[in-house]
Amino acid sequence: MVGTTDILNARILVVDDSSVNVLLLERMLRVAGYSSVTTTTDPRAVRDLYRENRHDLILLDLLMPGMDGFQVMQGLKDVETEGYLPVLVLTAQPGHKLRALQAGAKDFVTKPFEQVEVLTRIHNMLEVRLLLRESRNYGRLLEQYDQLTGLPNRTLYRKLLTRALDRSAARKRIVSVLFVAVDRFENVNDALGPEIGDALLRLVGDRLVGCIGPMDTAARIEGHEFGLIVATSGGDPQTAGTVANKVRHALRRPLEVGGAEVAVTASIGIAVSPADSPDAETLMKYAGTALHEAIGAGRDTYRFYSADMNARALETLELENSLRNAVERHEFILHYQPKMRIDTGEWSGVEALLRWQRPGLGLVLPSRFIPVLEETGLIVPVGTWVIETACRQIGEWAHSGIGRMRVAVNVSSKQFLRDGFVPDIARAIRKNDIAPESLDIEITESSLMSGSEEADNVLRELKALGVRIAIDDFGTGYSSLAYLQRFPIGTLKIDISFIRDVTTNPDVAAITVAIINMARSLKMKVIAEGVETQPQLEFLRRHACDEMQGYYCSRPLPAAELAKLREEDRAGTPRCTPL
Ligand code: C2E
Ligand code: MG
Ligand code: MG
Repeated sequence: MVGTTDILNARILVVDDSSVNVLLLERMLRVAGYSSVTTTTDPRAVRDLYRENRHDLILLDLLMPGMDGFQVMQGLKDVETEGYLPVLVLTAQPGHKLRALQAGAKDFVTKPFEQVEVLTRIHNMLEVRLLLRESRNYGRLLEQYDQLTGLPNRTLYRKLLTRALDRSAARKRIVSVLFVAVDRFENVNDALGPEIGDALLRLVGDRLVGCIGPMDTAARIEGHEFGLIVATSGGDPQTAGTVANKVRHALRRPLEVGGAEVAVTASIGIAVSPADSPDAETLMKYAGTALHEAIGAGRDTYRFYSADMNARALETLELENSLRNAVERHEFILHYQPKMRIDTGEWSGVEALLRWQRPGLGLVLPSRFIPVLEETGLIVPVGTWVIETACRQIGEWAHSGIGRMRVAVNVSSKQFLRDGFVPDIARAIRKNDIAPESLDIEITESSLMSGSEEADNVLRELKALGVRIAIDDFGTGYSSLAYLQRFPIGTLKIDISFIRDVTTNPDVAAITVAIINMARSLKMKVIAEGVETQPQLEFLRRHACDEMQGYYCSRPLPAAELAKLREEDRAGTPRCTPL
């Protein structure tokens, strides 16, 4: 829509050799409300002025010495790129009317003129002019978008990629180009018809948008092929692999089309800038090549263009595939690490830590596989297994010589915020007939940051059950203690990175003391993680930290070994008694 303000802001050029005429016309326009009026008495200047300013309207006198209005219009035709000359001719000779219109003028006014008539003609001409420009811009915009999905098309994708590359070069960011093809799309199209096929592509487009950041791009390149542009500041080219996996998992969830549920897989080719090439066209070519490799490898997978990145990516894929079956194959076990009271040296409980006995590769630590579990969503079934196993262990110990033992279980935020988390815990407690107070849940600050209302509810439900909550790795997130105060949290675990330096770095020592004191004022218990040396323990004791956990007392141990250690400790002097 063209509004009055648009019309009054339109750029108008007045051309007349008589400076009095120019002044009069200009004044008339200003009084009528036009804000952008330029004038010239030199017909030779018109061409350049127009080329530079693209006026929306030129009021042109026909009779001028040196160069007449017809010549001016002739000159304008060369610089007019939109095929529309917005000229309104003013002349004292009515006989020139036809010739002027034939020369390209859009309208004609005879002098002496009536002000109202001229102003109305000007208004009408501007309206047409602006409508035309608007629809042209819109048309140009539409041409760059895919009609079906509403995503940018190949042309715009290339432009956006070029821009992303330009911007990222200066900031030393990595730009990844991912080509995503829906596997066996022709089969869907043949079996269910092109309408369902189209609907499917639209949904795939939506899912892809959900897999990338707000500043990234998803486009439809052609047919069933999509393109992503992902810029990362982290500097790890393998991030593209993470995105590729996200896409694979997102598409695997069933899509509802035409009353049926369709699950699709995708093949993905990746090229990375600057490693593979700094150039948009080349990157797109490489991503295409990599896509063909992925399809050739049997589909439902991704490939990098470069060989060594592939090697690393394949490792991750292998890891993921082995993890998929690890629960059923009973490859996970829990190890337990004791926590001790610093003042008395008594055991206060243990933390359950997940281990993976990977066939042929021995014991794998969580840092290697927890991120993959989280990425693939496998953390949910595995986490449920951990809770179930820990509760069973609590029950077994309770009925053995060990007696009541508190066990803390780590829970990732994905697991924590999932519906069914609290019911799972309640079931495990009931099934194993254990005291709810024997179970602690360790979560990180980030679980509370994302969606704090949901987190709040979960925490209150847990509290109602009788399960206690500890904040793990405290100090590595950005939450303040004051923020945490609103949640029902019993314990803070100071992150291992603080304890490591607590005796060597005065700043770290000061922060640690501050955390201990603030936690105490909020009536929370404080546990130090990763205590390895006597001086660290002494420091913590001096500052009245409540509990400790670390190699200094014991490494995490299999259940049977831990039980033995517990018995020994009970029989003799506890290993971490005060000196
Ligand atoms: P976390 O919960 O902070 O666990 C403490 C980590 O510090 C454990 O590493 C433990 O072995 C290690 N540690 C304990 N004492 C010392 C010490 O004195 N020195 C050093 N250098 N390290 C010490 P681990 O077992 O490798 O686990 C790493 C992380 O993996 C855990 O950190 C936790 O965030 C996560 N994790 C472990 N098990 C599970 C699980 O069942 N579910 C979930 N979601 N995450 C888990
Ligand atoms: Mg923990
Ligand atoms: Mg920790």
